[in-house]
This record gives sequence, structure tokens and C-alpha cells, in this order.
Amino acid sequence: MQPCSAKKIIADAEKLCIQRGVRLTAQRAEVLRLMIEHPHAISAYDLLDKLRISEPQAKPPTVYRALDFLLEQAFIHRVESNNSYVVCPHFDHPSHTSMLLVCDQCASVTERPAEGVEKWIREQSTESGFTLRHSIIEAHGLCQQCSAILQCEDPEHCHHDHHNIVEPKRKVGRA
Ligand SMILES: [Zn+2]
Ligand SMILES: [Zn+2]
Ligand SMILES: [Zn+2]
Repeated sequence: MQPCSAKKIIADAEKLCIQRGVRLTAQRAEVLRLMIEHPHAISAYDLLDKLRISEPQAKPPTVYRALDFLLEQAFIHRVESNNSYVVCPHFDHPSHTSMLLVCDQCASVTERPAEGVEKWIREQSTESGFTLRHSIIEAHGLCQQCSAILQCEDPEHCHHDHHNIVEPKRKVGRA
């Protein structure tokens, strides 16, 4: 996410918190800011390392409490499959099912609306007498950038960053 939009996102979050009668403390806002500035999904421990730059006394519970609050307010989503967190790009919609497209190469997460699926999940839950609290749909694969790099045939002269790219395992029996 663009660093220049961080201020606006935090201002929006502050406004929503006032409307909801909850408090976006300086620490919670700082955790949100660090997440906005981080281009990809981030783990709680990486977040703690970043938080310790401004708050050396911060401990894991500090981060988890802030994350719980941000999750409760639906400002962020948890990427269950790799245990990381990502800022929601449209957090003025308090409870929504989102589809997270998780890149297995660079760990970038793109959120896409999942309205049709949301309705279907709700119907299935109701039919089963299940009380639905929240649901997240995760799809794994390669983001646009990583798939372009993997398909690149001229690594010597291209503009891609070919570092850290792991070639996918070829299927047995295929050339
Ligand atoms: Zn979202
Ligand atoms: Zn990627
Ligand atoms: Zn290339």
C-alpha cells in the first residue's frame, strides 16, 4: 500500500472508532500504520520487531492485543494459511467475507470482494443451524508480477527482480 495513503487510512479508522465508541489508542494506530507501510501481509513477530523501533518495551501481548482490536473492528484480516495479517482496503464495511489471493512466491495478498460467495456461505450455515461469525476465503497461487517473472525468458536483459524466485517443482513425467 502507498505510504502517502497511510494518514488518510488512519484518519478514517479514527473516525470509525469514534462512531463505534471504541478507542484507537496511539499504540493501536501505530500497529495499523506499520501494517499499512508494509507492502505485504506481515506476521505478528515481524510486526513486533518494527514496533520495537519506536517502543522498545513492546512485548508479544502488546502486538496481539492491538491485532485483536484491529481484527474486531475489521480494519485488518488474518491470513489463516500463513498466519499473517493484512490491512483491509475497504474497512468501512464492518463484516464482510473477502477472498484473499495469496501469492506463494512473494506473500503479497490481494483482497477481492466475495459477495456471491458470502450469500452462499450464509445460506449453507443457516441450513445447518450453524451460527456464522466470520469466514475468509483464501486462494493460493502467483501474483501478476511473480507469474511474469516465472514466465520471463530473458532474465539477463529484463527489468524484473529475479532474486528470491523459487522455480515451481515440475510434475513427474513431464519434460
Ligand atoms: Zn476486507
Ligand atoms: Zn508474488
Ligand atoms: Zn525477467
